[in-house]
Amino acid sequence: MTVNKPVQESWRPQTLAVRGGTRRSDFGETSEAIFATSGYVYEYAEQAEGAFKDEIDRFIYSRFSNPTVDMFQERMALIEGAERGRATATGMAAVFASMACMVEAGDHVVASRALFGSCLVILTEILPRYGVETTLVDGGDLDQWRDALARPTRCVFIESPSNPGLDIVDIPAICDLAHNAGARVIIDNVFASPLLQKPLALGADIVVYSATKHIDGQGRCLGGIVLGDEDYCENILKPFMRHTGPSLSPFNAWVLLKGLETLELRIERHCRNARMIAEYLSGREGLARVRYPGLADHPQHELAARQMSDFGNVVTFSLEGGKAAAFRFMNALRMIDISNNLGDSKSLLTHPATTTHQRVAPEERAHLGIDDGMVRLSVGLEDAEDVKDDLEQALATAFVGN
Ligand SMILES: *Cc1c(COP(=O)(O)O)cnc(C)c1O
Repeated sequence: MTVNKPVQESWRPQTLAVRGGTRRSDFGETSEAIFATSGYVYEYAEQAEGAFKDEIDRFIYSRFSNPTVDMFQERMALIEGAERGRATATGMAAVFASMACMVEAGDHVVASRALFGSCLVILTEILPRYGVETTLVDGGDLDQWRDALARPTRCVFIESPSNPGLDIVDIPAICDLAHNAGARVIIDNVFASPLLQKPLALGADIVVYSATKHIDGQGRCLGGIVLGDEDYCENILKPFMRHTGPSLSPFNAWVLLKGLETLELRIERHCRNARMIAEYLSGREGLARVRYPGLADHPQHELAARQMSDFGNVVTFSLEGGKAAAFRFMNALRMIDISNNLGDSKSLLTHPATTTHQRVAPEERAHLGIDDGMVRLSVGLEDAEDVKDDLEQALATAFVGN
């Protein structure tokens, strides 16, 4: 006796986030079960033979698939509007697998240069070792994209909004150029989360997430996922993952399933808090620059408003007085934690120039708008007034005597 109520076509994203993909066992449990098992048993030898020949569709080994992980993949695919998804142990495993599964020596890959640090390492150090050539462009400069995509290209990799500069890339425009060059377009959609930006509807082919960020959103576990069409996921990505093994653990898949149930509530509050903080900061003296895609003075505010339904929870700002002022400010914080994670229920703040982007050359950092006074704030789910009070007292301390 299983009590499984099928997903209805009419269900909206929040309903899918709570119920999509649920597959109950014969025990009729309300909450999704954790199938903490590495393998599966067969009734007789012929069954095992058939499973390995792909003649019987069943679970074989949890490196290939697992019921709890499947539920997470299916729920994510439903929310994203993708045909399929394959979950990974981390966001970086998703980024790497999404490209490594389809490139070969001699291929050309194009990416916007404003990327998460480890994504840059994959593109500029690891893939080139396998004979893949990478061209980096300024994401906002269509001419650079046109030049780079004038030759055949296997894939295009974009992060928008970018970390930590919050630059926006015109996704539909780049997808047109990329498709003319024969490329598949991959969007790292972490900063927007699955709710605020729909890359597939904007023309992209593949979406990747670090589920460690908003999808868990409570600082508990690492995870990632690659989403796309059936041909790519089944025939290109799945064999690569099955044999290289970056699988998500069933326990982490369960944590992420539970995270999805409250994602919309959290994202709504994250965005509301971030907007309030961005507005407070933009009126504050002593700050050289405040960046939030939702502020009218963000250079690509209109583009952001066109392709996103809200603007996320990350705000960056620069203190006049450079690194010394930024460090005085950070060390004076009484509630907001110094941490390089983001999308967490706790407000977290980091100094990119000395942490996540420390390895990036100073000229390149300047080009990306990462100056020594810049901090990145991931606004959490606390009462926004308390976040503001903490920022205000720490800024006051940082500027005493200046
Ligand atoms: C965190 C992050 C990643 C990597 O995810 P992990 O889960 O830490 O491996 C990739 N891209 C972006 C934009 C991120 O913020």
